[in-house]
Amino acid sequence: MMTNPKVRLTRKVVSFILPDVRELVPEETPIIEPSPSSPKGMRVPEVVAIEEEVGWHALKLLIALPYLLKTMYYARKAVKSIKKNPHRVKKKADEEFFKEFEEYAKELGVSAIGYTEVPRECIFSNAVLLFEYAVVLIMDMDKEKIEKAPSITTGKEVWRTYAKLSEAVYKLSEFMRRRGYNAQPDPPIGGSTEFPLLAQKAGLGYTGKHGLLISERDGPSQRIAAIYTDIENLPLTDSNVEKYSWIPDFCEICNHCVSKCPAKAIYKETKIFGNDHEQHVDYTKCVVVFTKTLGCSICIKECTFFKMDFFKIKQALMKYKKISSNKSENSK
Ligand code: SF4
Ligand code: SF4
Repeated sequence: MMTNPKVRLTRKVVSFILPDVRELVPEETPIIEPSPSSPKGMRVPEVVAIEEEVGWHALKLLIALPYLLKTMYYARKAVKSIKKNPHRVKKKADEEFFKEFEEYAKELGVSAIGYTEVPRECIFSNAVLLFEYAVVLIMDMDKEKIEKAPSITTGKEVWRTYAKLSEAVYKLSEFMRRRGYNAQPDPPIGGSTEFPLLAQKAGLGYTGKHGLLISERDGPSQRIAAIYTDIENLPLTDSNVEKYSWIPDFCEICNHCVSKCPAKAIYKETKIFGNDHEQHVDYTKCVVVFTKTLGCSICIKECTFFKMDFFKIKQALMKYKKISSNKSENSK
């Protein structure tokens, strides 16, 4: 089947910005393949090009041009920087390294960091990794600007955050290399792994019904990136996930994002594929609105975790569960 010229051109641009890591390392370099059940990674521009309906609306993105250019500049620089990984590699890091790394990340605007081993199921079927561990970085977005969604102000904030996080992921990888460690930066656009799932595994929050990570501090209002490495003694943060494991129970009774999504793209019943792989959103529907509105973000603004305190929601859920269980006891 012939691919249309718009899609072909878009694919060329995407692979220029985010080149395949296999083309950047010597052929004999060991790589970590995705699991046979891994889903395909979605490149937003490609889906936009395939969805003819979007058309010239995509030009609205020009309003955020400086941030778009900065995002693309740092994303390409970050991916290509794997060529600079040290030859004589250190595999153990001391406390001082992690302390300095986290201080530098904070200076660059990173709001939280998690450390985890990457499950192969998290790697997209059209990507590969060079290293098995991940440093997961999240960066929050300005609440007042997200509250205005959908708007130019919100769209600019989304792209400002992408740009700043792309810069941070590149600079932090360089920091690791200067200290003698390997790093494969994965910028926040077009990641090689399912970022919300990876961040969830790293104990930074839990995936909500809208498919976004919900964290204690920022609810769903953040962007995610990662740096893969072979540092063997990362202070893994996986056990923090227990703090968030009640979130899906709350989503089951909330469903607010499902009814508010203008594209009707969020599944009320999350779809399960293959090996328990969850799909929350129909991205072909989402991307149309996402592009027309310069980054939509309605599902972030409307999420209960964006509007209310994390612990108050937890308390309300516990109360609800208690009342429901008392009712069912009484009816026996
Ligand atoms: S970004 Fe907008 S269109 Fe996409 S899922 Fe969220 S609310 Fe729906
Ligand atoms: S709006 Fe409700 S259902 Fe949707 S992710 Fe947020 S808490 Fe979950």
